[in-house]
Amino acid sequence: MKDLTNLRQMNISEEIRRWNKVINNYPNRKSSACKFKINVDYILKNLCLECYREQLVSFLTMLPIIENDVPFEEADYILYMHPYARIEDASEFVLRELRFIDKYRKKDAEIIVLGKSANAERQLNGSIKNITFWGDHFAEKLGKRFGIDIKERYFVYDDREKHLAIWPVDGCLQKCGFCRRNYMDIKFESIPLEVIKENLDFIKKVAPEKMKHISLRAENLTEYGIDIYGEQKLDVLLELINSYDEVERFDFPIGLAIGEITPKILDALCNCKKIGDIYLNLETGSNRLLELIGKHHTNEQAISIYKDIKKYHPQADIHTTIMIGLPTEEIIDMYNLADLIVKAKPDYVFCVFYGNNPNQPLANLPQLSESLREYHLKILIKQLAKKVNFKMFFKYYRIFKNKSSKKTEKCKEVLKEDFIKAGLGAHYEDIIYFN
Ligand code: SF4
Repeated sequence: MKDLTNLRQMNISEEIRRWNKVINNYPNRKSSACKFKINVDYILKNLCLECYREQLVSFLTMLPIIENDVPFEEADYILYMHPYARIEDASEFVLRELRFIDKYRKKDAEIIVLGKSANAERQLNGSIKNITFWGDHFAEKLGKRFGIDIKERYFVYDDREKHLAIWPVDGCLQKCGFCRRNYMDIKFESIPLEVIKENLDFIKKVAPEKMKHISLRAENLTEYGIDIYGEQKLDVLLELINSYDEVERFDFPIGLAIGEITPKILDALCNCKKIGDIYLNLETGSNRLLELIGKHHTNEQAISIYKDIKKYHPQADIHTTIMIGLPTEEIIDMYNLADLIVKAKPDYVFCVFYGNNPNQPLANLPQLSESLREYHLKILIKQLAKKVNFKMFFKYYRIFKNKSSKKTEKCKEVLKEDFIKAGLGAHYEDIIYFN
């Protein structure tokens, strides 16, 4: 069972400041006086603060270890991490870096691979010696190894966001065809309801004002409880949190799989106190493609769930992600997607291109060319321009990442004009600035 006894540390600003100090001082560091010679180059270099969970649950608790870092060539232990993205497979990069470290490390130095990058163990297949892989609870395992009392934290008051972030479950039991789940194992583990209650009671006692705004997060929240209770228990969890008078608002920024929202879970969501932001990913616009990518919902179910959420929480902002360029996608799918968006009425649509990767089953299907998927995007926008008659933010600023060709620039310009003409209520900066 997860040990949550260090719940006492709920404010993160101070730790973020320490973290920044470590990063800023990093190039000028001197050999540490610590009895263990630990190098963290590959944590600082690869650290992607995009991963809110790893940052708050694990990284910040690891600061006492990271602060004791020594230069690579002196190290007896080299800590390694890499944050994988949901649809981009970074395993080749991770393998390359681990082989590089293996080649240049000091004789007998141990490599310790942490978090999601520990999935490299299978691919390395014993080809690197003196290497340890800790995929889960790695901060605590490090603490034990180096004699520092470290506890991961699943209830963190984020004093920048002013919410209490709770991670009641880790992992996901699905294997959607576009997701890293197809090539990565992340242990599935829920926190028992009584432990969650114990923690909430504690927060209520010591800092009730910090319970006002709850941000419930997980890779797959809808599957909460399956490992412990043999069935989904998100509804019971929501009822529990809802029962605290101190709670005024819920956000669900990640982890609700539409196809796994049971009637009980839907009821519990509808009966929650005020919902601020809720993310429900439509993914694509036709039932054929949904089935192809392994999603368990249909367009009709998605529209019905969106309607219920809006009925009970008219103030809620519904966010969704859609993918363009899925294998076998046709122009008709863009028409269907536009129809779906018009019927479901999300407030925010985040549009990404499907990223093919050889480790996923979808890689065996015919892929769309770059120009074809850009054409699909254009069709979609034109359809939305004709049909959307409500306020909606359509973000696609990462879609042209790492591209600066004239053709891309031209495509961006055309899309921008389409948006402006369409008057979709899109956020102006998202149209202009493409990262
Ligand atoms: S439900 Fe979400 S986390 Fe799970 S496999 Fe599908 S996309 Fe990935």
